[in-house]
Amino acid sequence: MKKFALIGNPNSGKTTLFNSLTGSTAYVGNWPGVTVEKREGVYKKGSEQVSIVDLPGIYSLSPYSPEEIISRDFILHNKPDCIINIIDATNLERNLYLTLQVLETNIPVVVALNMIDLVKKEGTKINEKRLSELLGVPVVPISALKEQNLNALVEESIKTSNTKREAWTSLNNSKINDLIETLNKKLKEDKVDNSLFHAIKLAENDEKEIQDYPKYLRYIEEYKINFDDELFHQDLEALIANDRYEYITESLVSEVITKKEVDYYDIKSNSNISNKIDSVLTNKWVGIPIFFALLFVIFHLVFSEDLFYLHSLGVTFGNNFEGTMFEGLFYTSNGINSVGVILMNFVNSITGGFSEWIRGLMEGANVQSWAVGLVCDGVFSGIFAVIGFLPQILLLFLFFSILEDSGYMARVAFILDRALRKFGVSGKAFMPMIMGFGCSVPAMINTRSLSDEKERIATIRVIPFFSCGAKLPILVAVAGSMVIMFNVPNADLITFLIYVLGMSVAVLTLILMKSTTMKGEKPPFIMELPQYHLPQIKALMIHLWDKIKHFIKKAFTIIFISTIFIWVLQHFTWDWQYIDNSIDKSILESLGQFVQPLFTPLGFGSQLTSLGWVFAVAAITGLIAKEQVPATLTILAVSIGASGIDVEGNGIDAMVFMINQTGLTFAGALSFIVFNLLTIPCFAAVATARGELRRGTFKWTLLFWIATSYIVSSFVYTVITWWWSLFIWLVVITLVFIGIYLFNLYRDGKLNIKGLRK
Ligand code: GDP
Ligand code: MG
Repeated sequence: MKKFALIGNPNSGKTTLFNSLTGSTAYVGNWPGVTVEKREGVYKKGSEQVSIVDLPGIYSLSPYSPEEIISRDFILHNKPDCIINIIDATNLERNLYLTLQVLETNIPVVVALNMIDLVKKEGTKINEKRLSELLGVPVVPISALKEQNLNALVEESIKTSNTKREAWTSLNNSKINDLIETLNKKLKEDKVDNSLFHAIKLAENDEKEIQDYPKYLRYIEEYKINFDDELFHQDLEALIANDRYEYITESLVSEVITKKEVDYYDIKSNSNISNKIDSVLTNKWVGIPIFFALLFVIFHLVFSEDLFYLHSLGVTFGNNFEGTMFEGLFYTSNGINSVGVILMNFVNSITGGFSEWIRGLMEGANVQSWAVGLVCDGVFSGIFAVIGFLPQILLLFLFFSILEDSGYMARVAFILDRALRKFGVSGKAFMPMIMGFGCSVPAMINTRSLSDEKERIATIRVIPFFSCGAKLPILVAVAGSMVIMFNVPNADLITFLIYVLGMSVAVLTLILMKSTTMKGEKPPFIMELPQYHLPQIKALMIHLWDKIKHFIKKAFTIIFISTIFIWVLQHFTWDWQYIDNSIDKSILESLGQFVQPLFTPLGFGSQLTSLGWVFAVAAITGLIAKEQVPATLTILAVSIGASGIDVEGNGIDAMVFMINQTGLTFAGALSFIVFNLLTIPCFAAVATARGELRRGTFKWTLLFWIATSYIVSSFVYTVITWWWSLFIWLVVITLVFIGIYLFNLYRDGKLNIKGLRK
């Protein structure tokens, strides 16, 4: 099968094209650097099946970061049959810079002129025939998003892959070209593939090239000495780059683009709008508050049971719907439900009805009671406790995807960069972190786009603090029960605050690491802000569909199995006696009581009743998958014989029951959420971190997660329980900071303590 490689600048639409061609659902994000690994798929709709490889975006073929090396190595060593160079037609100048370098290889190339829909909208005309003549390769205008002309692109690539192409360079400075020609000849003599390409990169003084072909360096030195020209005292790399840009603007762009004759005023007002939006959203003072305000609105729409606080504000409605199905589903005596809560109620009534129905069937067929228990109280209540939260998770993701796809999240990274730069934290690290709101696994992999290894380690460590979709069920279950038990006005406030807390801890620990063990240089933040555009329904749907698939798969595999496992542990004694409807002396109880004291400083240990071990056990089962935490609590509550708990109880009821039985306090409940948020993430994330980190760093990372969760949770618990303990904490924190400050001075040699210096 023929193999075609997609090469292009970040954010030029490679992954969108890849998805459209291969029917995959790879992650598309409106910011540069989303794809960090190569990905392969098959295009089946053409005259022959071809394999398509999506590569990380690059601006040039001189790599700086690991993922840029992937792209370059792929085209040089894997010998694709054709390179599809995708370029963002609204940004020709910048994109053609890479194209010129690609043409210096002798691999067949087709240029895909993407986003042609936007170009048409702008009214710009691009003469693709002329561009094709000038570059000497086919140029096919497409819209990856609207799936226009994609078949033509593939057919053209198939045709081109059957031809041979001579490497060609746009450089035409006679002296540099002479040098390149000399090198080219030598490389050819040695039968090096793509000799022109390597010759130019060597002349450019490209780091990787010098490593790979050191023996040709002397020719450059000789040449420079022989032709002692002013030119060679300059930086050749800059000269060559300059030459390319000149060629692009003077010989290419001016030839092929005709901008629409528009009212000057029109253009101005258009870009003015975008600039005006940015001047507010990225404003130094209001940028961050706007971000948090937006987040809060989103949480309100997803979690609130008093929409727009109408009830709290004293707005009342008649009782027209009392007693109908609308009561409870759409509103309660506390106010109107938000969309998320309505959807949750709806799903719960379906799953609840379903498991009642199965129970009826089983009991009707005289199935043994332990089997009914295992199926209905074990499996169903465990799985449904999790599925009940799916609507809210999806809704939250819909909002996050809109923020991301519109281009807003890239602005958030920009604002955070400005605020945190002085602490040595760069904005580029925030993109993977923001991805962590979805799932830590792709987010950790995405850190490969960070070029500074220390920054990458630190970022991987804090990514789990950005609360992921799987932690949401814990949050909603506990927050929901807190509303019922402790007179908290609304669950939206708790969930929002926990998200903010997670982010704050991430930033704080990041700063701490960057100023101690992970001190590195500050890489420049060279992100361009993507254009604002209306979120694309298709891209949003891909995100959501991905989430649903992942979630359902997890519910019926990992959660299913661990639920059965826990049910067994709690229904058998150490000598394998079955115990019904009570968990006294069960294996799980004795294990739980053994670890319970460990959590005393966190508020859910020995201060609780003898049943208090359930929280410790639930938190530990969260290491398998975070959704397992409410699932475990639910099956435990159901089998301890919680009267009044139906199977349809979605984890909130189970938590209420557990609080009543164990004496968990408000502070303890909050600390329980915080612990689950910050501690070792789920198994999948841990495995990913292990793959991404070196052995030694990985061990420290585990320790870091345990320590952070333990310290922050006990901070939350003690300060809320005894307000004055805040002062003790402040003293300790101050001492730690002074210690770090002194240590840094000492290390930099600015502090001289007698006898301490090496
Ligand atoms: P990559 O970084 O090159 O993989 O780019 P992506 O595929 O992630 O796309 C970047 C952004 O451009 C996304 O927001 C896409 O929805 C958008 N996009 C991609 N192709 C097109 C297109 O043909 N037309 C328009 N209007 N937008 C597009
Ligand atoms: Mg991509």
